[in-house]
Amino acid sequence: MALVRNVFLFVVLTLLTQIGGIVFLVSIAVSRLLQISRRLLKAVVFLSLYVLATIAAHAVAPSFGRVPLPCFSAAAALQLQSPLYCVLNRNYVSVGMRQAAEDLARHMATQFPGTVTLALDANFPFIDGFPLLPHLSHSDGRKMDIAFYYRGKTGEALSGQTRSPIGYFAFEQPDAGSPLPCAGRDDLLTFRWDLKLLQPLFADWSLDEARTRAAVQWLSSEGRAAGVEKIFIEPHLVKTLAVENDTVRFQGCRAARHDDHIHFQVAK
Ligand SMILES: [Zn+2]
Repeated sequence: MALVRNVFLFVVLTLLTQIGGIVFLVSIAVSRLLQISRRLLKAVVFLSLYVLATIAAHAVAPSFGRVPLPCFSAAAALQLQSPLYCVLNRNYVSVGMRQAAEDLARHMATQFPGTVTLALDANFPFIDGFPLLPHLSHSDGRKMDIAFYYRGKTGEALSGQTRSPIGYFAFEQPDAGSPLPCAGRDDLLTFRWDLKLLQPLFADWSLDEARTRAAVQWLSSEGRAAGVEKIFIEPHLVKTLAVENDTVRFQGCRAARHDDHIHFQVAK
């Protein structure tokens, strides 16, 4: 039984954090070596090693071509939506991507003073081809997601806040007559989840169309000149925001919905 549980934990930790699975195996070995049998102490050993490994990844990943989006940047125009992204080692990007994301955030803060751009899932620190699930393509440092910009109940521009506590899954529902390329499909193997039960739980704020449009427009103009190749948002939002452009694409019906965040990709 212990073996099954350990294999399960190794897989879950690897999928969630990349380095967590290996840290877990090391922590089992260390606990045995130190003859620790109490569960609480074993957990302390794991957590201590995980913190050390996370700090080490920060230091080492740049040698392998990935840099962390800064975790402690309360005054910066670009911030992680939640400390969870750093805790789980999901905040790594290529040097070109970090530059593009910082330039986007600076542009947004200049055009809309007080605006903070929030980064969501990026990539893991190591190994090209290792996907950051559920985003299959976030596997090489060249992709990342940013949160939408929102307006509060009285129409005030919100900064650094998202409808959903993690920035994902608060879907903007299409207006009548919008393009719906996935309507009527019922794929079993899909990351396109509607999560209808969650929707009423999210804050009742509206999409800030002006700022979200400005971000997509920057990505497909100045951003493109700086290496942005591709942007994913849902077709009904492309229409609502009027951001049709050859860099703005549809991700397909088996990938996650993109009417809760913006995904983009750089050349290197
Ligand atoms: Zn993405």
